[in-house]
Amino acid sequence: MNEDAGAGDERVDAASDGSDAGVRGGGRAPEESFARLGNELRFSILEVLHDRLTVGDRSDYTVPYSELREAVGEEDSGRFGYHLDRLLGEFVEKRPGGYAIRYPGKEIVRTVYSGAVDERTEAVSRPVDADCYLCGDPVRVAYADGYVSACCTSCEGALAFDFTPEGALSSLPVPAGAVGDAVETAPLDLLDRVHGWFSHRARSFGDGICPRCGGTVVSEIRACPAHDAEGGPCDECGTALPATVEVTCRVCSESGIVPGGCAVSHRYPFRTALADAGVDRLGYDAFAVAMGWPSVPTERDGDPAVAYDLPTESAPVVVDGDLDIHVGG
Ligand SMILES: [Zn+2]
Ligand SMILES: [Zn+2]
Ligand SMILES: [Zn+2]
Repeated sequence: MNEDAGAGDERVDAASDGSDAGVRGGGRAPEESFARLGNELRFSILEVLHDRLTVGDRSDYTVPYSELREAVGEEDSGRFGYHLDRLLGEFVEKRPGGYAIRYPGKEIVRTVYSGAVDERTEAVSRPVDADCYLCGDPVRVAYADGYVSACCTSCEGALAFDFTPEGALSSLPVPAGAVGDAVETAPLDLLDRVHGWFSHRARSFGDGICPRCGGTVVSEIRACPAHDAEGGPCDECGTALPATVEVTCRVCSESGIVPGGCAVSHRYPFRTALADAGVDRLGYDAFAVAMGWPSVPTERDGDPAVAYDLPTESAPVVVDGDLDIHVGG
């Protein structure tokens, strides 16, 4: 529900203990990498090289020196050469015909383009034609602090943290560039889009593949020790779900707390239950259906697991900490 680790408790930076710091930056200190970017001209160079990318024809990636200098509009060739030089190796590579952007350079430009570093905006939509998965009343779409939420217009919702809006049914990190003015102009489209995106990412995590970098993922079931969500989100865990799955990439530290049903909704028998509910593509409905499957914490071989009561199965379906599925327990 909240990929920064929010469905369970506070937002957590999985890298904060520094335990995996050694794997980053290809052996180069991160401070050094960032220092290399600390200049507007250097970003302009990356931008020009990035905008030359076309899928399929690698020869087009290469921009000759003089053309690159002209495109960024730097007349002082000494200054241009100095800054280009600082990007070489890590962000830009020199080729026979000129210069081309490398993967870390592309990531920098795309991060800026997606608006993840823009100023935060806040907005709440009118009620849209989508139902709360708890009470059936319409939802609104809210954007605050970089998170999109579906919010019920009448019940208490499924999440109650200090950073979630009233009636929150989800809390999904989305860069400002991908939200734009959609809260006001196309809230239903935004609702579908971000919940669809979340569901795809949850499935990738569910398959043990980091949706951000392709690295390997560790997963763990988190069961609430004193769950009570009768009158709204549980005071103990802050959610309506008695158990969630914590996933963390071993490589880039991308992490999140996802509903188990969302992480395995493409695998049997969850996919059958999703299809049976009339869901054929991933959007808000797919998320809402998965959130509506009743679940209880259980154990399997002594380890925490979650048992689902799917409308298409007569026996419980157990999902274990490795996200393996066991029909009939
Ligand atoms: Zn509701
Ligand atoms: Zn709880
Ligand atoms: Zn990763």
